[in-house]
Amino acid sequence: MSLPPDYHMHTPLCRHATGEPTELAAHAVRTGLTEIGFSEHAPMPRDDWDDWHIRLSELDAYIGKVQQARRDHPQLTIKLALEVDFIPGHEDWIRGLMTRQPWDYFIGSVHYISDSWALDNPKDLSGWKNRDAFEVWTAYFDRLTLAAESGLFQTIAHPDLCKRFCIYPKEDCTPLFAKFLNAAKQNGVAMELNTAGLRKDCKEIYPSRQIVRMAFEAGVPITFGSDAHAPAEVGMNFTEAIALARSVGYTQCCRFAQRQRETVKF
Ligand SMILES: [Zn+2]
Ligand SMILES: [Zn+2]
Repeated sequence: MSLPPDYHMHTPLCRHATGEPTELAAHAVRTGLTEIGFSEHAPMPRDDWDDWHIRLSELDAYIGKVQQARRDHPQLTIKLALEVDFIPGHEDWIRGLMTRQPWDYFIGSVHYISDSWALDNPKDLSGWKNRDAFEVWTAYFDRLTLAAESGLFQTIAHPDLCKRFCIYPKEDCTPLFAKFLNAAKQNGVAMELNTAGLRKDCKEIYPSRQIVRMAFEAGVPITFGSDAHAPAEVGMNFTEAIALARSVGYTQCCRFAQRQRETVKF
């Protein structure tokens, strides 16, 4: 059995991560990974949208850093990707990004449930105060479903990011999960098991065991990501993520090259 690729990692260009891509790659080699992918926070239509996406003018620098990591670690397969925020109305912008490079994959992400509120940002935690948790979770999963239906992404990041601060609705969210997973299945999109949740308040992999089990039953393929924002986080808690995936029946995950999918055993 080999370790699945770690397809979610960041660089200092996003201003909230440390370690150059070559340092993350070195850590990947040390932990026994044979394939990784960089998925930096993609530029937004306006550079002043927020302070944690890379600027459009930095795309070439990003690609240069990934190419350097490839040169330094020829034994490691290194994919070039982006984590792209999905906001309805930004589809043409995202298509424009797509044509700039032969990206291996795009990860679709929902952080924003309105143009001004990123629900997982500790700086915006007050945004939860005057909102009903179920309304937020519903809006979040509605956007995640649209992201899966958009045809723009190969995999969807941290599918229940809305649990980050442990603000759980009383209502049953099963129908929200089912709608998203059905859209992923219908559109040939994978779902990410993201271990960063273990490092947040929720102390749980994104998504929950319930969603992972439903995803397997629905036939949705998976990817693995550490969401590393520092070299030591590469491949972090993959043992737990693999155990979770296996416990519901998964034995295969996705690899991507030039936005084409293949499945491999892990
Ligand atoms: Zn980040
Ligand atoms: Zn993210």
